[in-house]
Amino acid sequence: MPSYRYHLGAYGRLVRYIGAIKTEVALKVINSLGVNATYTAQAVLMARAVSLVFSRSPLSALIPYILGALGAVALRGVLSRSFEIYTKIMAAKVKTKIRFLVFDKILRLGPGYMHHQRSGRIQSMVLDGIESLEPFLVNYVPHIISIAITGIAIGAYLFHLDWLTSLVVIIAMILCVGVPYLTVPLVSRGIVSYWRSYASLSAQYVDSLQGMNTLKAFNAGEKKGTELAADALDFYQKQIRNTALSLIDSGLMTLLMGVASCITAALAAYRTDLGLITTGSVAVFLFLGIECARPMADLNMYWHTSFLGLSVAEGLFEIIDRELSITEKEEPDTLSLDRQLPEVNLHGITFAYRTNVKNALQRVDMAIGAGRTAAIVGPSGSGKSTLVNLLLRFYDPGAGEIRIGGVDIRDYSLDYLQSKIAVVFQETYLFSGTIGDNIRMARPEADDEAVVRASKAANAHEFIMALPQGYQTVISERGATLSGGERQRIAIARAVLKDAPLLILDEATSSVDARSEALIQDALEGIMKNRTTIVIAHRLSTVKNADKIFVLDEGRLVEEGTHEQLLVRNDVYARLVNAQRQATQS
Ligand code: ADP
Repeated sequence: MPSYRYHLGAYGRLVRYIGAIKTEVALKVINSLGVNATYTAQAVLMARAVSLVFSRSPLSALIPYILGALGAVALRGVLSRSFEIYTKIMAAKVKTKIRFLVFDKILRLGPGYMHHQRSGRIQSMVLDGIESLEPFLVNYVPHIISIAITGIAIGAYLFHLDWLTSLVVIIAMILCVGVPYLTVPLVSRGIVSYWRSYASLSAQYVDSLQGMNTLKAFNAGEKKGTELAADALDFYQKQIRNTALSLIDSGLMTLLMGVASCITAALAAYRTDLGLITTGSVAVFLFLGIECARPMADLNMYWHTSFLGLSVAEGLFEIIDRELSITEKEEPDTLSLDRQLPEVNLHGITFAYRTNVKNALQRVDMAIGAGRTAAIVGPSGSGKSTLVNLLLRFYDPGAGEIRIGGVDIRDYSLDYLQSKIAVVFQETYLFSGTIGDNIRMARPEADDEAVVRASKAANAHEFIMALPQGYQTVISERGATLSGGERQRIAIARAVLKDAPLLILDEATSSVDARSEALIQDALEGIMKNRTTIVIAHRLSTVKNADKIFVLDEGRLVEEGTHEQLLVRNDVYARLVNAQRQATQS
């Protein structure tokens, strides 16, 4: 667990983000100074009124002071309320900036990073976590600046009335700012474990909701429910512990201010007795002493609500500081793939996932001619999807090089490379929004006509038009209301619209019914023309016509050739074909 110094350092870094809302923070400081001024004015006016009472002045002499104090109260009401909305606006601005930064980094880290993370943890950090930074960014920071200015002004005024008594007030104020920092080591541990427990509870919920079908199908709901209840209990215990810890220094502060008030009153009275200060000044000390305690209590509250953001800041900086494993050349190639249909060449590709000691690919060589169709087959776990991950540069190979269009893919900019490859994944991800928007994702500037043309080529137009609002139909989360075949045809429409010279079909027909498969196959044959295509397939019937078939087994390329050549060889591929034929016959 990082030390509390780390946490304070994290706060130092957070302060830098306030740069995005400099003007707003300055205005908030001015507003907060205004509010403090009304408290001070009220205290001074009331002190004067009280000293008039003691000097037996007529009631009429008190009225201006009392009206003045009432005016200060009214002005304070206006000042503090008017800034509540403004504070929300500045909070939204700075949180948006941080969210954008973190999201941009996560995108640049790419799927290679997300494959190793619990998405629920990232979600709770980017949503709730950044929310918890708000008290620090928009309350604590402006407040501490205004307290410093107000403290110096009040201190100077009191010093002018009586230097010795003022020292008690000044020292008490400085100690009050410092006390919360003294308990940081204790409180930070409590808050960090509180936040971790929250993140884990939230990740459990996301997991359970995403895996609802599986939980139901395997009757595992009750077990998951028990786990969730245990996590919720742990979270509740951490919450109580955290509240108890935060009470330590608010108690210390109350004690400190109480003791300071008593000493101030006694000392001021003693000094009056000696004839060193007037009774009017004693009243000022008593009233202003109380007013000094109020912002300190607020500061303490803001500090505690801010502290929750600490362990989040730690997680956020861990993402922001994470080195990119995929880097780009300073002057990348952004042209070569526009010239002609690309050929794809793999030379000695070896790759292992970070979390896996075994190589997922081992010295793989492949040559796929421009405009040709290559099929990659092999049993599950043989490395087919890994190959797609490498072609898209989600990961870089440990050894060897991949050339597309004669250029090492590390020499292209990532955006350019990925814009030239269209992929139809086995599982199509649809975002919430309309069907039209989902297809247009491939080329946001495409007009309606282009979207319809792409959908027709993907054999998707007919079923889309049969939906209540056609292309404007809003699809539910992840397209749950569409069939596997329909989702796949939307993915193909995206690929058509993208119009990239290299097409990758990753098990595109593996999870659809026979009628859909025929429609999809037909659409695919259309778009494979005039493109270099790589088909990854379990079902060998779909790859017979490929110009070349590559057979992978345990990460190694074990055979290559046409369907006929490989059957004649009568080795791995022939065995796979026979096994599948027998499986379909039985
Ligand atoms: P295929 O697509 O042929 O089924 P994969 O390329 O998915 O095979 O997997 C090849 C090997 O890499 C397997 O041993 C698999 O367990 C492993 N693997 C795949 N993805 C990951 C990952 N994200 N992290 C660690 N290991 C992985």
